[in-house]
Amino acid sequence: MSVKVENLTKVYDEQVAVNHISFDIPKGEIVGFLGPNGAGKSTTMKIITGYIPATEGSATVCGKEVSNHLIHTQRNIGYLPESNPLYHEMYVREYLTFLSRVHKLGIKSNKRIDEVIELTGLGREEKKKIGSLSKGYKQRVGLAQAIIHDPEVLILDEPTSGLDPNQIVEIRDLIKNFGKEKTVILSTHIMQEVEAMCNRVIIINKGNIVADDSLIQLQQNNEHKNLEDIFRSLTLN
Ligand code: ADP
Repeated sequence: MSVKVENLTKVYDEQVAVNHISFDIPKGEIVGFLGPNGAGKSTTMKIITGYIPATEGSATVCGKEVSNHLIHTQRNIGYLPESNPLYHEMYVREYLTFLSRVHKLGIKSNKRIDEVIELTGLGREEKKKIGSLSKGYKQRVGLAQAIIHDPEVLILDEPTSGLDPNQIVEIRDLIKNFGKEKTVILSTHIMQEVEAMCNRVIIINKGNIVADDSLIQLQQNNEHKNLEDIFRSLTLN
């Protein structure tokens, strides 16, 4: 399994944000991780990436428990947080070079930076300051930083929010390509995005998993309703 979550719980002060959830994701799946605002998606993703500790239960990435193997986790996970924090004063290639040092890519650095610039379509922007780029290109830089170290697992928190329709199609293609060989967990509010990209859907509501199935099975189980209606009926309460 690329990602395994067992009995995972997070309590902030007295609020239970994630309530004893479990799931396994094998290599090669693109999983849509859905839920209304406040459902516990970001909290779960932050625990899997090692950014915050769980209160109870465990998350395992590529065979090792996250909280006990943070370096192994960072090596194997690429993470694009919802806010996409970037160094706006840095130039695109300079930023990727900096990250390649952080990840200790050594002599592979230049070749990998070229590859990632090519993959994310940043060729014409590589000498520009990140702060001067459009939102779509900043998002590509965010994706580039997530894949620079060629991780096995990619965790993307609303990767297409705020992008125009053309940019959305381009970013989706990139993610789909990545998902052919790796594992992707994708949080989004856009159901068409899930239908376009994901083989599997996990829906979380108020910290509990209310569905975990292939898209086809989920529709069969719910009178063939569209995903939007299924989502609404499962997250009303
Ligand atoms: P989602 O990503 O699905 O919108 P979150 O994981 O961000 O949900 O939040 C789940 C719940 O935990 C929410 O009720 C939110 O207010 C709460 N929460 C998230 N982060 C914190 C925090 N740092 N301190 C206290 N409560 C938090």
